[in-house]
Order: sequence, then C-alpha cells, then structure tokens
Amino acid sequence: MKKLLLIKVFVVFQLIALAQYIPVSDSIPVEYFVTHSRAEWMQKAADLGIGIELTDSIPVVISKIERFTESYQPKKQYPDDYYAIESIIQTIHSFKEGGYGIGAIMVDSAGNIISKNYNSQIQRHRSDLHAEMTLLSDFEETEEAKNYLNVFIYHPGVTVYSSAEPCPMCLIRLAAAGVNTKYVTPGPDDGMANRIYCLPAAWRDLAYRYPCVKAKSSPELQKIAHLMFFSFLLDNRGPH
Ligand SMILES: [Zn+2]
Repeated sequence: MKKLLLIKVFVVFQLIALAQYIPVSDSIPVEYFVTHSRAEWMQKAADLGIGIELTDSIPVVISKIERFTESYQPKKQYPDDYYAIESIIQTIHSFKEGGYGIGAIMVDSAGNIISKNYNSQIQRHRSDLHAEMTLLSDFEETEEAKNYLNVFIYHPGVTVYSSAEPCPMCLIRLAAAGVNTKYVTPGPDDGMANRIYCLPAAWRDLAYRYPCVKAKSSPELQKIAHLMFFSFLLDNRGPH
C-alpha cells in the first residue's frame, strides 16, 4: 500500500516536471492581436486574470500590469520570456511618460542586454521614433556603440527584442543595421515580418538575411505586449 502511494507521488512529481516543458496554450487566435476600442481593451485586460477590474482607473490598470510583469517568472518552455519581460517593461516606461506603449531592447551575441528604449514619437515630437528606431538611433550616438559596429553594421549575433512586430520602416532599418529581430506581439494589421516578399528585391534579400521572427514567449506576455501596444486607446493619446 505504502509502495503504491510512493509510486503515485513519484508519478505526480514527474508530471509536474514535464509540465514545465509543455507549452500551456500558445495558440492565441490572430484576431486577438487587434483591439478596436477602450471597452474591448479593458475587457481583455480584465480577462488576463491579474486582478484588473473594469472600473479601475488608468494608473491602477497600468500599475497592475507593471507589478505582474516585473514579478513574472520566465517559463522554461518559452526561452525568450526573459527578454520579452524586459521589452514590456520599456512599454510601461513610455506609457507613464505619455508615450506609446512599445519597447525594445538590444542583446549582444552572448545574451547580455546592451541597450533598452521605447517609442518616443509623442515625447520627442518625432515621426520616426518608433521603439526600434529610438533604440538604434540613441545607441548609435553613444561611444559604447563603436564596440558593436562595423561603421554602421552591427557585429554578427546582435538581436533586437521588440515588444511588437516591426512596421515596414523599422524592419528595413533593422535589416540595414544587420541585426536579427524577435518580437513579442504579432501585428496582423501593421507588422511587416510576414510581408517581406512585398519588398523590392534588394531590400527583400537583405531582410531575409537578418531574420525577424516571433519570440518564443508565454501567451500571457504576448497578451500584455499587445495591450500595451494599444494602450493609446485608454486616453486617446497621440495626434488627432
Ligand atoms: Zn516601426
């Protein structure tokens, strides 16, 4: 009897260990990644199950997302969780400044984070300062950047993790800089990663040389990155 119990305990522990490696539910319908209204945004935020109420104020909602993201433990089956978290933290910094909730970080070939930044279009009154553009442009102004650059092309193995799928402008900039890209939330209506075949031949070849692919990050983080991308719906920020 005791032996049977021990076997049962052993099996349960094995299943728990195995569960660490099985993706929970990685198939979020693509429609999820477009949000049309503040009401829809709030419902999705409440559905995250992180304590957000439909009646919460904007600062409360954002602080709950921030607390959840900062304490999120990367999952073993999602090897990009660690960098996804860092890029999402940048989205929150931008939102709190009055900007768009999109962030990006740069990682060297050894996996060290060498730069972090976020979309600054609203804050700096610049149409070009998407998260990836701000990241590259600000970094390239620093002395440290020379350690990673061959004139203006990054050394092999540098990767940008963006909280959102790059737009056409950013995808071209990233390819022209010679960096690989991983993004957390897909952008079915605005992303360029799955439309590279549309580019003129020379740019298409360059873009294929430096892959831009979806990060392997947990569904919760993908949803949060998406909601931060559409956080402008909360207070209708940006040009009108
Ligand atoms: Zn962009």
